[in-house]
Amino acid sequence: MQQGFKEMLRKAGFRATPGKVALLELLQDEVKPLTVVEIQKKLRQKQDTVTLYRSLEALTEKNLLARSELGHGHAHYELSVGKKHHHHLVCTSCERVEDFSDPSLETALIKAAKNAKAFKSINSHSLELFGLCARCS
Ligand SMILES: [Zn+2]
Ligand SMILES: [Zn+2]
Ligand SMILES: [Zn+2]
Repeated sequence: MQQGFKEMLRKAGFRATPGKVALLELLQDEVKPLTVVEIQKKLRQKQDTVTLYRSLEALTEKNLLARSELGHGHAHYELSVGKKHHHHLVCTSCERVEDFSDPSLETALIKAAKNAKAFKSINSHSLELFGLCARCS
C-alpha cells in the first residue's frame, strides 16, 4: 500500500515525503476520524504540530483526507481516498461515531447546491447527525 500512497500523493501534486505517507498509513488503519492531538500521539515519527496541521489541511484540500467537526468545534481527519464516501452519526454522550451513506441523500445535496445563488461549484461536503447511540439511550 505504501507504493500506492506515494503514487496518490504525486498525482495530487505533493512530494511524497515520509511524513505525509506516514499520515495516510496511520489514518488507513483507523475506524473513526482522529483529532490532530490523537494523530500526533499515534505517529511513530513525531512531527511538529504546525507542520502536521498544514499537511492535514493540504491533504484535505486535495480530497485525500476528509475533515469533520463531529460537534466538538475542532477538526477530525480520516482517510478519504480509496474509501467509500460517507457521513457520520455521532453520539453526544459517549462520542461513538458510526458511518452511514445513502445515494439518494447525495442526489439531494447536489440538487440543493445547484439551487445556490452565489456558488459556482461545490468541491466537498461533510454531514453529521447527532443523537444517542443504542448503548447510551
Ligand atoms: Zn453513546
Ligand atoms: Zn468516517
Ligand atoms: Zn455525502
